Amino acid sequence: MSHRVFNIEFEDGHRLFGIEEGVSGYKYRQLFASSEAAWDCRRTGDFARQEPATAKATQEAVVYDPDESWAFDTRASRVAMWLTGPIDLEECEAEQPGKFGQFGTEAPKEVAQPIPLRAGGVEVECPYCGAVAVQAHKAESAPADKGAPIESPVVAHTVACHACRRDFIYKTITV
Ligand SMILES: [Zn+2]
Repeated sequence: MSHRVFNIEFEDGHRLFGIEEGVSGYKYRQLFASSEAAWDCRRTGDFARQEPATAKATQEAVVYDPDESWAFDTRASRVAMWLTGPIDLEECEAEQPGKFGQFGTEAPKEVAQPIPLRAGGVEVECPYCGAVAVQAHKAESAPADKGAPIESPVVAHTVACHACRRDFIYKTITV
């Protein structure tokens, strides 16, 4: 009976809404533009079950129930209207044990494929959560002197994922 509307807030303040079942605490991952729309869907029981194909790549960092004491960091896609990240604190801890002091810090993951160095940025997929972001090549990834021999054509960059906030490494190669 006591279903509840939760909300998630993006970094620019935009909010989306979802439904949590009262008895089980089950949260639907489908998100809605308003709490009314979320309730309407609850009434018809017509929730989407399948994660939209674009959800992972388009996810961003959000805060779950930002006005409440139980607020936590997770991820969602505003274009796919889908909660993609951890659904509760337990899942947060399972995903990032180091952050919660359960294990020592691990070496950051690497994106497997080196990326050809081009003038602009490249789309890089986060190896943890699958969010895609355009990474601008940093100045040091280009050879300082075109005439000088390039000793190490592979340059590793450490970046923080904009969605799950974890550090990972991607490599650029000069081609
Ligand atoms: Zn990520």
